Amino acid sequence: MTIPKTQKAAMLFGPNDVRVQEVPVPSLQQGEVLVRIMSATTCGTDLKTFKRGGHPQIIKSLPSPLGHEMTGIIVRLAEGVQGFGVDDRVVIANSAPCLQCFYCEKEQFNLCEDIHFINGAYSQFLAVPERFVRTNLHKIPEALAYEKAVLTEPLACVLFACQKIPVEPGETVVVIGDGPMSFLFNQVLQMQKARTIVFGLDTQRLEWIKQSGADHVFDSSQVDVVKTVQGLTEGHGAAVAIEAVGLPQTWEQAVQLVCKGGRVLCYGGCAKGTEMKLDTYRLHYDEISILGTFHYTPSVMDEAIRLLAEGRVNTAILTAEQRTLNDLQNIFLGKDPKPALKYLIRP
Ligand SMILES: [Zn+2]
Ligand SMILES: [Zn+2]
Repeated sequence: MTIPKTQKAAMLFGPNDVRVQEVPVPSLQQGEVLVRIMSATTCGTDLKTFKRGGHPQIIKSLPSPLGHEMTGIIVRLAEGVQGFGVDDRVVIANSAPCLQCFYCEKEQFNLCEDIHFINGAYSQFLAVPERFVRTNLHKIPEALAYEKAVLTEPLACVLFACQKIPVEPGETVVVIGDGPMSFLFNQVLQMQKARTIVFGLDTQRLEWIKQSGADHVFDSSQVDVVKTVQGLTEGHGAAVAIEAVGLPQTWEQAVQLVCKGGRVLCYGGCAKGTEMKLDTYRLHYDEISILGTFHYTPSVMDEAIRLLAEGRVNTAILTAEQRTLNDLQNIFLGKDPKPALKYLIRP
């Protein structure tokens, strides 16, 4: 393809301010590849970043490119690129570990002391930095469409989280939250043959999650959450509770929902400096475990691509609403006429 000199890119200028700009198509440094972005998806992290006008780890200066869930096709290679060629279809992961630090040595790549993040899914072209090409760029199998592969990153976060709480078939798992991550948790938990109970606040979102196969969904403003879970588990509580909201009060609630020996997975990240109350009795005498999880490691991206390629994840509901770069401002302001768990963006 002929590569133009300039491109359209959605740039974050400050709180609640995304503008589509005409910017240069980046030139490449040693080890980099240029990707024509084919599809991107909106994500809760982007929304948070939009509202705050930045992100402490991910966006250091403004105006900044935005968006981190993306697929595309390689259109140009710099010197020194190994393992990739022009016309390769790829998922670009949004993080790249250093492979050398204390944590990387232990293969805890998500905890890397010098992890790099990339934004720019909402642009037509992206120069993928050398470290990303080397550590976290993934080819898309021929049969897998860009519009499905674009969910690799959020699915990888969920798969990585689920590794922390191995679920036995038939176990009851509560998911608190009705966003896209709750949707994906339900997909993965169904593969593991768990019985799922979901609590949320949005009737439409709960309906989508139910359609995707959740066993029970409840509007948590209409029911007593603890009693509901007890009622469905002969009074014991669930084997696992996953918090996918990111509020201290729902973290605390998750602790109340598990049986003795149960596992609580705190997936939703809370604001910095927040604290939770913990009944120590539950931890000691009831032997519950409380686990955190952050992000994912590169190998889990491959696992996510494999599941998507095998058609084992319902992607249709998550990518039904397709938009362009010009729609992003309205989407993030919540003004898009059609509500959706995610929007598929074609830059
Ligand atoms: Zn995301
Ligand atoms: Zn590292």
